[in-house]
Amino acid sequence: MSRALRTRTDWEQEERERLAPWAVRSADSRGRIVPEPEHPYRTVFQRDRDRIVHARAFRRLEYKTQVFVHHEGDHYRNRLTHTLEGAQIARTIARALRLNEDLAEAVTLAHDLGHTPFGHAGERVLDELLRGAGGFDHNRQTLRVVDWLEQRAPGVRGLNLSFETREGILKHGCRWEHPVPVPELGAQPSLEAQVADRSDEIAYVNHDLDDGLRSGLLSLAQLEEVPLWREVHAEVRARLPATRRSASDHETPVLRRQTIVALINRLVTDLVESSARRLEAAALPDVGALRRHAPLDPPGSERGERLFGYERALEKALRELKDFLGRNLYHHPHVVATTRAAEQVLAELWRAVRADPGKLPESVRARFAEDGEERAIADYLAGMTDRFALAEHRRLVEPDGPVG
Ligand code: MG
Repeated sequence: MSRALRTRTDWEQEERERLAPWAVRSADSRGRIVPEPEHPYRTVFQRDRDRIVHARAFRRLEYKTQVFVHHEGDHYRNRLTHTLEGAQIARTIARALRLNEDLAEAVTLAHDLGHTPFGHAGERVLDELLRGAGGFDHNRQTLRVVDWLEQRAPGVRGLNLSFETREGILKHGCRWEHPVPVPELGAQPSLEAQVADRSDEIAYVNHDLDDGLRSGLLSLAQLEEVPLWREVHAEVRARLPATRRSASDHETPVLRRQTIVALINRLVTDLVESSARRLEAAALPDVGALRRHAPLDPPGSERGERLFGYERALEKALRELKDFLGRNLYHHPHVVATTRAAEQVLAELWRAVRADPGKLPESVRARFAEDGEERAIADYLAGMTDRFALAEHRRLVEPDGPVG
């Protein structure tokens, strides 16, 4: 090994020595849809991660809603900052568990590429409109973005990612038509894919709490009904210096942030330690055994007994917190009103371009023959950022309406 340069084969050797037996090794990748020569110093998953970051769909995440639409304030999370927070958590968990952090990071960075404008509101509308043509789902759309819609190399559709990254994006299997063969899933996906899934959850639960409190849609008093929050909040209050404990306005944000920090830490620590214990006990010989290893619990039940997961008590506490967010934030009248407006914008855009496809860019119409008119339009609408959708709505639906 050169002392000044780490080549791909050096990396692959390091992975063999450093990663747990049940981790995915880049040298063992099942490869890309279209085979390509390897890179001199980047592993297959490092290249996947880089392709995702350089993708057009990745840049659009900045102007796609997480919960708060972009014009509500510059400090709220959007889908890009959500993705970055998730990727950071994924790297921490993957490293602590001796898993492949490049793969976990790649999957997390890609996981929301298929999201519509206006968050889940957009997804619901497109699913409804496409009912007769296979429906719409953001995980499916993410795989479609990386496998089909992005264009980077001549003669190859999509980003041509590895099997393992695509498996992580696919998540729960596929009941729909897809333009290229979908990765076949075993009894469970790689642990790196599961890390990405849980990191997404840890990121959104915590930043939605943070943004919810900052916006005033949620209050600290309301959150006292959630046992996990109550406990962590009390711990943080007790350990903050007395000067920080006074409830003067400028100190409340510090307490809020410290509680979020402690909550993320609590979740990540429990996830890492509980999973390490179970993985140690299972002592699987390799990643193949992991993929074949059926989770102990049936789908839909508590996930506390899976090899990768929280202790049962924390799993339950997290579910209570998510239920709270569902009732009080995602169904808050302000969020519901924004959601309704967003649904209307997308539905009206759909009707306008279906009635007159001449209003669509030539590049979209050119895909009708291969992808079908409805799917090509859905791809176009799903790819829009919030602000582009609003601008197109003004142009196509309300050309004489008030500018705003
Ligand atoms: Mg997400």
